[in-house]
Amino acid sequence: MVNEAGETKQSMNASRRTFLKATGATTTATALGTGTASAASEDSRADCEVDALLADLTLEQKVGQMTQVDVGTFDPESEEIPDEFGVETLGEYFSELGLGSILSGGASPPTFDAQETVEGINALQEYNLENSEHGIPFLWGVDALHGNTLLAGSTSFPQRINMGATRDVDLIEEAEHHTSDATAAMGAHWTFAPTTDLQRDPRWGRFFEGISEDPMLQGEVSKARVRGLESNDRLCSTVKHFAAYSIPENGNDRAHARTSMRDLRTSVLPPYRTALEAEPATVMVNSGALNGKPAHASEWLLTQMLRERYGFEGVVISDYDDFYRMLTNHDYTDSFRRAVKEGLNAGIDVYMIGNGGEAPGPAKFIETTVSLVEDGELSEERIDESVRRVLELKEELGLFEEPTVDESKISSVLGGGREESERLARESMVLLKNEDALPLEGSENVLLTGPGYDPDLDIENRFLMRYGAWTLGWQGIEEGAPTEGGPRPRGETVHDAMADALDGGLTHVPTDFRAQPYNPDTSDDNGDFALTDEQEAEVREAAGSADAVVVVLGEGPHNEDFGDRDELELDPAQRKLVAAIEEETPETPVIGLVLAGSPRGGAETFDALDAVLFAGQPGSDGGRAIAETLLGENNPSGKLAFNWPESVGKVPNNYDAYPPLADSSLAEPHEPLYAFGHGLSYTEFEYSDVSVSPGSVSNPANTSTVTVGVGVENVGDEAGEHIVEVYNTQSYGSVLQPDRRLVGSERVALDAGESTTVEVEADLSRLEVVPGDVPGILPKVLESGEYELSVGELTTALTVENAASITDDRPAIGYDADREDGESSYSDLVKVLRGLGR
Ligand code: BGC
Repeated sequence: MVNEAGETKQSMNASRRTFLKATGATTTATALGTGTASAASEDSRADCEVDALLADLTLEQKVGQMTQVDVGTFDPESEEIPDEFGVETLGEYFSELGLGSILSGGASPPTFDAQETVEGINALQEYNLENSEHGIPFLWGVDALHGNTLLAGSTSFPQRINMGATRDVDLIEEAEHHTSDATAAMGAHWTFAPTTDLQRDPRWGRFFEGISEDPMLQGEVSKARVRGLESNDRLCSTVKHFAAYSIPENGNDRAHARTSMRDLRTSVLPPYRTALEAEPATVMVNSGALNGKPAHASEWLLTQMLRERYGFEGVVISDYDDFYRMLTNHDYTDSFRRAVKEGLNAGIDVYMIGNGGEAPGPAKFIETTVSLVEDGELSEERIDESVRRVLELKEELGLFEEPTVDESKISSVLGGGREESERLARESMVLLKNEDALPLEGSENVLLTGPGYDPDLDIENRFLMRYGAWTLGWQGIEEGAPTEGGPRPRGETVHDAMADALDGGLTHVPTDFRAQPYNPDTSDDNGDFALTDEQEAEVREAAGSADAVVVVLGEGPHNEDFGDRDELELDPAQRKLVAAIEEETPETPVIGLVLAGSPRGGAETFDALDAVLFAGQPGSDGGRAIAETLLGENNPSGKLAFNWPESVGKVPNNYDAYPPLADSSLAEPHEPLYAFGHGLSYTEFEYSDVSVSPGSVSNPANTSTVTVGVGVENVGDEAGEHIVEVYNTQSYGSVLQPDRRLVGSERVALDAGESTTVEVEADLSRLEVVPGDVPGILPKVLESGEYELSVGELTTALTVENAASITDDRPAIGYDADREDGESSYSDLVKVLRGLGR
């Protein structure tokens, strides 16, 4: 028997045995037989008192609960896990070290086979309960970041860069319900999503993980994702990476952030604050640094801001080996002991430990922490606080009552969420340019060309570009080196979907693409692309007899570190391909199909194309959505959720940056190639009669939203969906105001000739500013004045009669008048500033 991933049943059984053996839990699993949770319920700890349990634990055991270790990438065929941390089987982590949790980092579980995974985790849990002194169930964490994309046959939802283009918050939440069920059914309890970092710098390799550069959109979607991901009682989510991870000043991963106190409070922190409103169970810390301080050592960030200001009560987890990174990455200290001390004192509850290398393992972390307590450098109360949070989380997830999961469930949920995935993929298609080249009629002869074919592996591998990272591997499927018939998510390729739709009219000439996920030398393109002489000749010949040419462009899958890029232009081989087609058939429409996790491509290439469709990394159902869009069955409606910069020299280039953005009299205008909100359709929409109600707000603290009404008519010949966006476009205050700020949006569907009135709720908190002079410490307020609101070219005006705080009426933390911790108080500072003014 061959499963969807092409493995024989025999090899799956062999693989299952090895995972169970690696867990050290083979005997227990056999004894369990059916793998149901019956033994677990007998041992049920339903009436467990967290405090009583806490009192029973030794200091070592408490710190064990604060420890999480990655087991993700060991080879299940080798029957052993790496011995680097002094244990030979996974089971020993519990019987020897009493660990509180495990992670399958990088979307890489020990095996991609779903049944084997759930049985292995269950067996290990049973082993843990029987062999660790207190039988506390462990937590299993995973990176289910765009669907539960850890398992063969799973649904890979469009990546976050696509989600932002849909603006469809409700649909994204529905999709995450599926992720929640599919992740809980595999036996995991924790997903390290949603990534809530503002999408600001396309040089950064994790740009594709952002929803938008707009704080409101990033926050609203993240909040909806928390709700969706936690909809299954057995799964908790993680708002990450708190805070300011995504704005490295040099564009590189895990670097120091480029921000200011005013920017932090106006734009960078708000998405996290909004997401925290949905009460996620956990938060992960930014691996970088902020204003000269590693985030992992910042008590201001992790305690004063996160807990005291935002009221977060859950578990704070470090990022991967990040105490150690204070030594190796930030060069902040040369002492692991000091890093642990500062990290735990700053407010971190759980230390996430990688799977080997130079970094200290769990035994070292536990020993270091215990000695810090014994030497009086860390209080036991601080430890108890963290352990209590961890135990409470386990209790909330029902682990004491039901430590294992029903093993029969995974097969029915795996690969589900199809409707949401299809809709998200369709809604996320952004048509950047169209000079009457699209849609295709369906009766044409079409040449499909462009990457990817891997000549070394001898397989077509374009699907790597469609899924991106965190999909059956950290850097992309099987770490970018997929085997023929190896594990894949459920899905259909662009080629198959187009061949199906064109019914015999498709010719395919793929060009070379080798994924290079671990090679920093090729990281600019995130892949090694080539156009051989034979391929060029074949393309020229096929183009000569085609009615239209679709050229795939873009970049390979990529992720942390290796994905950082210094340029945004397309690879030379791709540009050469476009030039060759243009030269051969100047009259034939040439359509660029961009599969990328960043704004990849510049004016030179796009000018040579008749149409450009940005498909991002659209996942399982992306192939079908692309074919439908090219053929007009799906009228594109996605809008860019970031500015597409003209070149990397124009980065940062955010749509809501302070003026001047353009028209600065002498310098080159800082215009993007395609602006935030850009996205064409096959039909046309016209707006009329924009109004706002109420037109005047006396106290924004009481009236924090207004309703913008606008008439929308589909004046073209095609039915279509359209996102109506409302921006604040002009206002004056005590500080600079961005040229444009999105305050609300609404998706509508209209038949050709149909019209309607759309009401958009505009969120006034988006217009709050930090007033005052350079320090940027005063309470945020919506200042009084006239605010121009625009829909397309039409405008209306909102009057704010009195200034008021909407989200928070307190000054920046560290400057509160009533603090008694020795920090300057707000009033002290005001005195100093007044003094300086005199
Ligand atoms: C990433 C996190 C991720 C973790 C576990 C880290 O390197 O920064 O986002 O959740 O690994 O895989």
